[in-house]
Amino acid sequence: MKITRIVLEDYRNYGRLDMTVGPSVNILYGNNAQGKTNLIDAVCYGTGLESCRNSGDKEMVMFGKDGYKIGIFAEDDDHSPVSTRVEYSLQSDKKDLYVDNIKVARASEFINICNTVIFTPEDLKIVKSMPVNRRRFINSLITKVSPTYLNHLYTIQRLSGQKNNFLKKLKFDQSYKGTGEMELNMLDYSIADTSADIILARYRFILLLSQYAQADHRLISDSKEDLKITYNTITGCIDLLKAFLVENDNLTVYMSYGLSEGDYAKIKAILSEYILGKLQNARKTDKEHGYSSVGTHKDDLTILINDMPAKDYASQGQQRSAALSLKAAELVIVKQFVSSTPILLLDDVFSELDSRRRQRIVELMKGAQIFITCTDKESSGKLFDSNVTYFHVENGNIAEDN
Ligand code: ATP
Ligand code: MG
Repeated sequence: MKITRIVLEDYRNYGRLDMTVGPSVNILYGNNAQGKTNLIDAVCYGTGLESCRNSGDKEMVMFGKDGYKIGIFAEDDDHSPVSTRVEYSLQSDKKDLYVDNIKVARASEFINICNTVIFTPEDLKIVKSMPVNRRRFINSLITKVSPTYLNHLYTIQRLSGQKNNFLKKLKFDQSYKGTGEMELNMLDYSIADTSADIILARYRFILLLSQYAQADHRLISDSKEDLKITYNTITGCIDLLKAFLVENDNLTVYMSYGLSEGDYAKIKAILSEYILGKLQNARKTDKEHGYSSVGTHKDDLTILINDMPAKDYASQGQQRSAALSLKAAELVIVKQFVSSTPILLLDDVFSELDSRRRQRIVELMKGAQIFITCTDKESSGKLFDSNVTYFHVENGNIAEDN
């Protein structure tokens, strides 16, 4: 997959931008605060509806304007053209999504048209920061390779929101008790069902992630460090999953291909029944607190270096390296699962990598289109043999070097 043209309107500090980009390495250089990250973020959002800054639509609208547009024109690996467009209006606080100029109703129809993998200094948060950053990372990865997963995420978000509303009402309004309980029973049933889908997907891709990140980390640490990722979810679910997979002797098959329809239905039924029990057991405390204490909204990954949690024990350098191994693993997984080569976005990270890391990333990126931002044009350019297109970014304007 290669982007050919990027069009922006009233997006951040870009009033109007219409740029044609190179098929191989695109280096965007310029001083601080000129719009380099904004452009990378526009590509990220305009293809995958994810902001590398985790901003909302409102923040993306140029100050004083009433909406923004991001248009991405690309070519598939077989050179067939494809385009995506996001149009957001501040007044309605709604965005419209278009694929090849045709409006699509669901985000899941939009986000897998053009896949990108981004490396940014923010990736360090995956290792260092709160569980929400790790959930975001794994959600983003799975969404890229399995669009239906996004529907599960939307469903669970909606159901959990409704459940928390009921729990709050029950806490403060005794007259609500009878109907409230009934509604909660129905909601828990649906929550358990969707949670099982989410856990099945997360377990599979965390196993894969751990495998690839471990291999990558071994390579760049001279086999001195062992990186592992484990999945923490509703107590007992992983044991059930492990037992089922071992019994069916298909752990490796599961990682690479998922489960057969029959096996999926079987383990999903086991998991959802178990989760329903857990939700019901927590009902009393949940009502006291006014929110649900059990669910995939609490999921987390533990990132271990030499069996010690990297969050608490690893040095800054080790944490940075672990974050890069995780992202490299994401790249390998996306490459493995999607039919067209993902586009790479490197915001402010490349020039700071040590030579071995750089080499590894270059190796992984072979054949992919790359966008790199930096303040120093020369040092980034030197890392690539040829086919580099340079763009100077200045105050929301981008000009290609001659
Ligand atoms: P650095 O090298 O420091 O990372 P950068 O070139 O990546 O800089 P950006 O993060 O892209 O810079 O930001 C450029 C400018 O965009 C900032 O000065 C910021 O104030 C401005 N900006 C951010 N959001 C908006 C917006 N909604 N409307 C107008 N300008 C905005
Ligand atoms: Mg920047």
